[in-house]
Amino acid sequence: MKLTILGCGTSTGVPIIGCQCATCLSTEPKNSRTRASVLIETNGPEGSNNKQNLLIDTSTDLRTQALRAGLSRVDAVLYTHPHADHIHGIDDLRAFNMRQDGAIECFGSERTITQIRSSFSYIFSEGYNQSWTPNLTTTIVDAPFRAAGVEVIPIEIFHGKATIYGYRIGDAAYLTDCSGLPEESIEKLQGLKLLILGALRHAPHPTHMTVKEAVEASAILAPERTVLTHLGHNLEYATENSALPRGIELAYDTMEIEL
Ligand SMILES: [Zn+2]
Ligand SMILES: [Zn+2]
Ligand SMILES: [Zn+2]
Repeated sequence: MKLTILGCGTSTGVPIIGCQCATCLSTEPKNSRTRASVLIETNGPEGSNNKQNLLIDTSTDLRTQALRAGLSRVDAVLYTHPHADHIHGIDDLRAFNMRQDGAIECFGSERTITQIRSSFSYIFSEGYNQSWTPNLTTTIVDAPFRAAGVEVIPIEIFHGKATIYGYRIGDAAYLTDCSGLPEESIEKLQGLKLLILGALRHAPHPTHMTVKEAVEASAILAPERTVLTHLGHNLEYATENSALPRGIELAYDTMEIEL
């Protein structure tokens, strides 16, 4: 299994339009962050070695991310929650439909799928399915399921007052936009080799963990490696990355992790 951080930026992306701060003006590529999403290349069903591509969220920057990653096929999409930065690239799935047979399967919680179907009614309305709309199916999930040939476990996490999904696949978990973890979810996150966890900035935020809170959550879950994502412009890559404890690092766009 291979994971690629397609984007590790907060909802605005970094640089933020018009911002003159040091991170936003930086020429260091690791300070340039598109909206949060991850690509997981699975090995497919056990013994098959039939590699498949699983996308978590369709970020606003999906087209840019797919071109940069050389992505030409998407077998399934897992949605974490229906906030704009995580879903607004949905129309770019059309480019994959043009290259591959059949609909692309999209999975998420009841609230997420309902919201996506109403926000993008031109995709899902009866009779609207045309060559200029993506060909997608939606499945509501609330228990472990299979996608792209592997078992996927939805993990409930807090995002402010909302409860949204993170996902565990094998020894890896992706928890973006996280402000806290329910007790039952902590149990489901034991024995991880890789934890990708959201951390926005240092100042407290109602719906996202700070870097300190993410470091504390990582200490509780004790994965072998923790990568922080959904980063804001207050986090300059080199400065912040070197200040993190052993085993914890900042994500950057195009980062690849083999498991
Ligand atoms: Zn977000
Ligand atoms: Zn800035
Ligand atoms: Zn969000």
